[in-house]
Parts: sequence; structure tokens; C-alpha cells
Amino acid sequence: MTVGVLALQGDVPEHLRTVGGLVPPSSVIAVRRPADLAVVAALFLPGGESTTIARLLHDAGLWEPLRRRLADGLPVLGTCAGLILLSAELAPSPGGANPPTFGVLDIRVRRNDYGNQRESFEGPVTVEGLDGGPFPGVFIRAPRILSVGPKAVPIAWRGEEVVGARSGPVWGLTFHPELTDDLRVHRRFLSAAGVA
Ligand code: GLN
Repeated sequence: MTVGVLALQGDVPEHLRTVGGLVPPSSVIAVRRPADLAVVAALFLPGGESTTIARLLHDAGLWEPLRRRLADGLPVLGTCAGLILLSAELAPSPGGANPPTFGVLDIRVRRNDYGNQRESFEGPVTVEGLDGGPFPGVFIRAPRILSVGPKAVPIAWRGEEVVGARSGPVWGLTFHPELTDDLRVHRRFLSAAGVA
């Protein structure tokens, strides 16, 4: 089974490297065209700039095919900008105009909500179902999950705050497991997706 990383902008090499630590190299592809998307059994949406990724998805003719695959239940894990693109609702943001979203992850989110002072920070995160203790959370100009709707469940917390949620096969995290050497989150997602 083939695992894809959406490769239009953002921390694509880091996701490819992390997934490459879990499945054979021949099973990982960078998704740039509709033909790539058609063959993947699970997909990672990287962190980066959500407005840019949304624009590039349209330019590459990938928006509609991805929308359809999401509607068909494709397992997807979005980190940071990836989470933003999956969200059901975006609150007005200090970071400027919001991108369009796929609306498949039932959370309300505000982009860049941790402000300038704390644009980037690190700290332990608890992730549901992970053995081996807290996960190293790397937050970079992170969005904040303002609320979790009835069609989603929280899956990650930093203290009391929800920093990850899931709607069925669609997972979103406001932090970046791909920027650590810890493979547990990617492994757990791929295992839930029935891929690895
Ligand atoms: N601030 C970015 C956005 O709104 C997300 C940052 C990230 O992916 N690290 O798209």
C-alpha cells in the first residue's frame, strides 16, 4: 500500500523522512498531481502556510480530487497548516485572510492564535493511545483549536488544552511530530489507517 505526503509547500521532506522510517521506501510518494493522489491509501498534509497550500492545491488541480477522496474516507493526518485545511470552521485570524477548507474535521480553529511572543514553542503533549510517555510537541505559528464539535474527538492535549482531534479517519494536530525523531504518532496513524 502506498502512503502519500502532499508535496506542494511546507515541511514535506520531514514527513517523507518520518514515514520512510515506518514503511519501505518504495511505498512512500510525494503527491503533486491527481495521478499521485489516486494511488495512495493514506495521506499526510504537512505544516507550512495554509493559504499557500490551498492556492497550490487549486493550481495543481488537486482540490476537487482530494475533496472527493476525503468524502470517500481516505485516512489523512494534517499537521498545523494541514489541520487548518481539514477544519470545519476557521475563526477570523490575526494572521490575515483565511484559506478555504475541506471541512472534514469537526473543529473550530483560529490560525496563528498563540501570538508573536509565543509564535513558536515546545512542550510535552499527551497523545491518546501512545505508549512511552509524553510526546515532544513542537508548535510553530500554531493554530489553536477553539472548540471540538460533535463529529470529532480530542486526541492530543497540552495540559488542559486540546491540540489534536479526529473525525473518523481524519486526524489533525496543531504541532509537528515530523520535526522530531519520535515516530510514534505517524506509526499510530498508519496503524489505524491499516497501512503499517
Ligand atoms: N501559521 C500557518 C498557517 O496559518 C501554519 C503554521 C505551520 O504550519 N507551522 O497556515
